[in-house]
Amino acid sequence: MYKKGHKHTKETKLKISNSHKGKKGKKHTEETKEKISKALKKFNVNPEERIKKSERIKEFYKNGGTTALNKHWKLSKETRKKQSIRQLGEKNFNWKGGVTAIHICIRELKEYQVWRKKVLKRDGYKCIKCKNIKELQADHIYPLSKLIKEIKSISKNNDIMEQVLKFNPLWDINNGRTLCFNCHKKTPTFAGRCNKL
Ligand SMILES: [Zn+2]
Repeated sequence: MYKKGHKHTKETKLKISNSHKGKKGKKHTEETKEKISKALKKFNVNPEERIKKSERIKEFYKNGGTTALNKHWKLSKETRKKQSIRQLGEKNFNWKGGVTAIHICIRELKEYQVWRKKVLKRDGYKCIKCKNIKELQADHIYPLSKLIKEIKSISKNNDIMEQVLKFNPLWDINNGRTLCFNCHKKTPTFAGRCNKL
């Protein structure tokens, strides 16, 4: 491989220059021809398929890009969930992906839905900051991502979800508060920001 700052020896230079000589107009060997044609076939989409594809794209834009986009989003969300669960079972579990995966899994738990409902009920189905009654979310006061880190530190890779269920601070409604989406967004631990903790 070519490295910056690497100098070819005189011998190598000669070899290279010789190998380039007479290349112009040189005919490909049968073997090379076959290789090239195989490679080209990969790119060779049949015309019918191409028309279908363009119709799908037109349809997508006719719907304002939304229907198709939503479908895709749902699918990818589902796929991601599957991936996270798969990741949870893996022995070589990577830390960062792990936190996100556990986040997703916790939110899918029945226990989480129960906890969430209890918090909302206690707060009278109102945002505790602005009294908004729409788009309510239950937020962990001591952040979920920190709780997950603590769970990870006490568990082995394959018993994380077991530890999650046993971990009381996660299910304590005193560690929960009702926030509307807007107020929740403003918290330093909202969604994507959790990994930076
Ligand atoms: Zn609010």
